Amino acid sequence: MAKKGVILCVCQGTCPSFHQMNIFEVLNALRREKLVDFVGIHPQLCASDGDVFWEVFLKGTDDVEKLVVAGCHADMQKKMFRDAFEKAGFAKEKHVGVDIRNMTTEQAIEAIKSVL
Ligand code: SF4
Repeated sequence: MAKKGVILCVCQGTCPSFHQMNIFEVLNALRREKLVDFVGIHPQLCASDGDVFWEVFLKGTDDVEKLVVAGCHADMQKKMFRDAFEKAGFAKEKHVGVDIRNMTTEQAIEAIKSVL
């Protein structure tokens, strides 16, 4: 069954760009409104174990119809995840990046909602 989900990426949690928001509350707000089928948080998707995460998570699945990654700029995400998506056989068109850096909890929720 086609599923839509949001993965938050937070630059290891050490970058000040993510300190104005409660990352758990961002995802809980989306869950409460049942806007997505799954959510997750990864500390650093652009690291090599981020590639492994995508491979394990996405390989061989057609179930994910839309994968929103909330973190850094969408163009940066596209470049950084391209090889891992290709390796996993995941159609890159299903990935939607949304920049939530320097946002409050409410702003991040709205930014993500706008691309769902
Ligand atoms: S993918 Fe973007 S948000 Fe995630 S750790 Fe790398 S630079 Fe930060």
